[in-house]
Amino acid sequence: MLGLMQDQPLLISSLIEFAERHHGDGEIVSRRVEGDIHRYTWADVAGRSRQAANALDGESLGFGDRVATLAWNGYRHLELYYGVSGSGRVLHTINPRLHPDQIAWIMNHAEDKILCFDLSFLPLVQAVHAKCPDVRKWIALCDADRLPVDSGIPHLDSYERWIGTQPDTYAWPTFDENTASSMCYTSGTTGNPKATLYSHRSTLLHAYGAALPDVMCLSARDSVLPVVPMFHVNAWGLPYSAALTGCKVVFPGPALDGKSVYELIEAEQVTFAAGVPTVWQMLLTHMKPGGLRFSSLTRTVIGGSACPPAMIHAFQQDYGVDVLHAWGMTEMSPLGTLCTLKNKHLAQPAEAQDAIRLKQGRAIFGVDMKIVDGDGTELAWDGKAYGDLMVKGPWIVKAYYKGEGGDPLVPDANGHGWFPTGDVATIDADGYLQITDRSKDVIKSGGEWISSIDIENIAVAHPAVAMAACIGVAHPKWDERPVLAVVKRPGAEVTREELLKFYEGKTAKWQVPDDVIFVESIPIGATGKMLKTKLREQLRGYTLPTI
Ligand code: ADP
Repeated sequence: MLGLMQDQPLLISSLIEFAERHHGDGEIVSRRVEGDIHRYTWADVAGRSRQAANALDGESLGFGDRVATLAWNGYRHLELYYGVSGSGRVLHTINPRLHPDQIAWIMNHAEDKILCFDLSFLPLVQAVHAKCPDVRKWIALCDADRLPVDSGIPHLDSYERWIGTQPDTYAWPTFDENTASSMCYTSGTTGNPKATLYSHRSTLLHAYGAALPDVMCLSARDSVLPVVPMFHVNAWGLPYSAALTGCKVVFPGPALDGKSVYELIEAEQVTFAAGVPTVWQMLLTHMKPGGLRFSSLTRTVIGGSACPPAMIHAFQQDYGVDVLHAWGMTEMSPLGTLCTLKNKHLAQPAEAQDAIRLKQGRAIFGVDMKIVDGDGTELAWDGKAYGDLMVKGPWIVKAYYKGEGGDPLVPDANGHGWFPTGDVATIDADGYLQITDRSKDVIKSGGEWISSIDIENIAVAHPAVAMAACIGVAHPKWDERPVLAVVKRPGAEVTREELLKFYEGKTAKWQVPDDVIFVESIPIGATGKMLKTKLREQLRGYTLPTI
């Protein structure tokens, strides 16, 4: 017997319709590429996204055609989130930090028909446009009078002129909720990038999940700053969850340095911010010397790579800001787990609470997870056993766009497909996940695994260390031994011996790195993560000290 409830598809257009009707006067504030601050409301987003949808219809785009963006977090980008997906096209957000050749490759692979870009990316567009013959229109996200002359780009238009002539009425079409809505390419550190193709259904379910109290706890009383880029996994879904809950949204544009982010947080009374550890490091570095304080910020989601304990401690103890450590991936829309305490933890001392916050957290309803050994046997949730982390759920990838890479799922005994995350983790009895490594980065020493994240976390707690990366180096007896590459803070001094001594009492002796190498910088990839593959290449001639 089927249930007798209404069969209404979950569509992204319903989010913006809801936002307009229920919190139409809610504010959207953006720092623009031009440097000034732009303000308007959810009702304005709704009207202008309908204009954008009309403009797309005017280009004779088909249902499911791809519209790409090369843009910072800002109001015009938000309008495209709704205008493109709501009208049945697929929004392809491109990471501008990729190499131009890689951008051209993914644009051709995605078969993008239109590219909308912020003017700061004009040189990038000039570098790629000739390589993308199928793009029929290039749209600069600016006023008509700011459109560059002699850019060399054919079919170039300004966004304001393009949508400005369109009516702000539009009947959002109704279609199957499993229709593709947006796509995001993984950074492709090995081989060509692969695209995750999100659907309206997966996006809406993720938006509901993300807003839950033990996830991001978003509400109409929040002022939300997504520092995480809209070109990377839809800014962790915040543009959708914000419409669903009615929070004020504050977009930082291109200004991601500590000073700009701090000033925006204070000026717009931001209560909740989300970003990767590197951004928060810049913010804390800016705040410390002048003794600056937050007057409104209560919590921050930190994810994308492991959040060092020193950062959690600084936010919690020095600034009274709750850190919500999050784990996820492009293939998971991206949220998988988020770290919030349970009632029984509240009476525990601060250090014990910080130790929990260091973990990546508990699964969000909708994400099933398990850890398995090399044979695929499920391991215990005891906080000690570590294995390959597998996930399944309605906002997790089933296959990559165009079937690239074949079937990624691994079936279990019941025939259910699980996505192998490539992460190695433990899960404790309370369901808290802790990522110990990427499977390709884990260090195998004498048959035991050493977590490079643990070793790096200890190093960055040293006041003289700005950044640290731990990699395994081949060893005749132990297979591999850990070696630490360190970038010192400007003006700070520390010796190899002092750093190695710093490990005493903080980890088992056999896990202490065999050597410390001081480097000028550690290579960072397009999504702000350390590129250990590159680091290994740089250190190729390196040999372990003989002791
Ligand atoms: P990329 O394009 O670099 O793959 P993703 O955001 O998809 O970008 O990367 C996902 C990976 O990032 C995860 O599989 C995990 O290894 C790492 N990651 C994400 N969040 C965390 C975290 N909180 N702690 C440790 N690693 C994390």
